[in-house]
Amino acid sequence: MTVWLSSRVMQSMALYARELSPLENGGILLGWRSGEDRIIVDLRGPGRLALHGQHCFVPDHKWQVAEIKSAFEASEGDLDYLGDWHSHPDGVAEMSDLDSATLLRIARSVTTPLMLIVAGSQTDWIPRCWRGEIVRPLFRRRLMATPEELKIFDPSTVWPRRTAVLPSLLRDFTS
Ligand SMILES: [Zn+2]
Repeated sequence: MTVWLSSRVMQSMALYARELSPLENGGILLGWRSGEDRIIVDLRGPGRLALHGQHCFVPDHKWQVAEIKSAFEASEGDLDYLGDWHSHPDGVAEMSDLDSATLLRIARSVTTPLMLIVAGSQTDWIPRCWRGEIVRPLFRRRLMATPEELKIFDPSTVWPRRTAVLPSLLRDFTS
């Protein structure tokens, strides 16, 4: 799996992250599934009732569900929920135990969701992405979180709709 991240979404995450640093900030990732690949083209922030700690972030779940629904409808079913993102201010882009628990919870209702973490400070944020999968689905459900290759692309040149987007096309946009 390759995760394609729009440079605009990356910039927005950095702004959100910087805004609340040293507290964590986060939200949801919206985009497309193309075979094994994921293409992140939009995001939402935390929502009004989210909780922001120095080492934890709890999104406003109810708000997020409503946002996913309205994004889906506004795009005529084009934009899909792909996973969650949050910041690790002055930290490293690694999954904490809490992050794993969150990804496991998401993986119970969404197939192979993503967890994207941006770590850093000020204007310098490094993204990393994991894919969550439930192993042993029938017995004691466990999460397998696999780090995925992340590529940033620039959507500003040409912006085809989902049907026209293929990973081979996106490769031309990456620097
Ligand atoms: Zn975290």
